Amino acid sequence: MKSVIVVGAGIWGSSLALRLAETGWQVTLVEQHRPGHLRQASAGDTRLLRCAHGVDDWYPRLAWAAREEWRRLGERAGEELYHEAGMLWFAGTPDGWEHDSAKVLKNLDIPYEILDPADGARFFPDFRPDGLSFLLWEPNAGVIRARRATQAIAGLARAAGVRFVRGRAKPSEGTAVSVGVEELRADRVVWACGAWLPGLFDVPMTVTKQDTLHFAVPVEWSTPGIPAWVDHGASAYGHGDVEGSGMKATSDLEGPVFDPETGLRAVDAGSVERARDYLRLRFPAIAGAPVLLSQVCQYALTPDAEWVIAETAPGVWLMGGDSGHGFKHAPALAAYMAGVLAGDHAPEPRFGLHERVPARGLRTSGRAG
Ligand SMILES: Cc1cc2nc3c(=O)[nH]c(=O)nc-3n(C[C@H](O)[C@H](O)[C@H](O)COP(=O)(O)OP(=O)(O)OC[C@H]3O[C@@H](n4cnc5c(N)ncnc54)[C@H](O)[C@@H]3O)c2cc1C
Repeated sequence: MKSVIVVGAGIWGSSLALRLAETGWQVTLVEQHRPGHLRQASAGDTRLLRCAHGVDDWYPRLAWAAREEWRRLGERAGEELYHEAGMLWFAGTPDGWEHDSAKVLKNLDIPYEILDPADGARFFPDFRPDGLSFLLWEPNAGVIRARRATQAIAGLARAAGVRFVRGRAKPSEGTAVSVGVEELRADRVVWACGAWLPGLFDVPMTVTKQDTLHFAVPVEWSTPGIPAWVDHGASAYGHGDVEGSGMKATSDLEGPVFDPETGLRAVDAGSVERARDYLRLRFPAIAGAPVLLSQVCQYALTPDAEWVIAETAPGVWLMGGDSGHGFKHAPALAAYMAGVLAGDHAPEPRFGLHERVPARGLRTSGRAG
């Protein structure tokens, strides 16, 4: 039986461990804290699932495959992990990122509609279309209950026979991993360490502090039908209340450099003001709503927002640099990575450790921080 050590029980590591255990591998999953612990990127209350990715067509295919997987995983876990409320993209120009995305969705047969800005009033109790050119509607997008999903996938992995080891792993010789006094050995090792990866390996990655905010909105804003939304040009995004934790409205601008282990997890007053400024512009009726939930998380950003999937020595794999758009893909990425580990296919060259040219077309943010 082939064996593998996966380091990191965020959504990437846990999904991979589950996939490998269910396809005949003997799997050990090492985590320094616990699956769903509040420092990991996967422990955010919610994460968006969307297929629009600008001109790119690789990630939309993966997201579309992942959508199906999330539905299945929810059934297996016995709870709705993914809430498909749809997503509205607020396009400020007729020929920008949303236009490019629509062309790709069309080519891939992924459902979408182009709507008039005034149609936004069909989706929200109060909506101001000022300055918008059109709306891109993705009916098969939505919100993943991220922290719950991360814990549920770890539970499924345990049930599938994955051995969990608690401790901080360090690279040892070849594919070996040391955890305290224990030396673990396997045919392959995958370091799926999120924002901790640059502390272990030389990777092209910057870790930034990201504040997220949910607002306590009146009941008419708390129905399951309120969709997710993104304003790429304004680097703002959010969604309706799916968890009882309020309506999310937050900025995707890159925050300051951050240490995922020791960084202070307090939201800046400026982040609250920025979110309110956006609400005032687009959803003025709730601009004064109180903050219900605030979370500090971190992006592990590569310069071009492409992930890192690279073999640094025989059998030693790095998997990271999710660049703030990795959660949704996790179950489909796990299947892709299982194929890489089995030698069925090589990873795309875009994921290599080459020098990256700065670009942000894959993110939901059209502006630098
Ligand atoms: C504010 C914010 C909003 C986002 N929005 C979206 C979104 O809408 N849609 C989307 O798809 N994605 C989104 N993302 C990105 C998504 O959250 C990440 O892509 C995903 O969670 C990355 O998972 P991961 O498993 O790689 O990392 P993590 O969840 O951070 O997990 C890494 C794990 O590795 C462990 N670890 C690290 N080093 C060691 C070690 N040496 N030994 C043992 N364990 C170790 C850590 O403790 C941690 O648990 C967002 C991210 C943020 C921060």
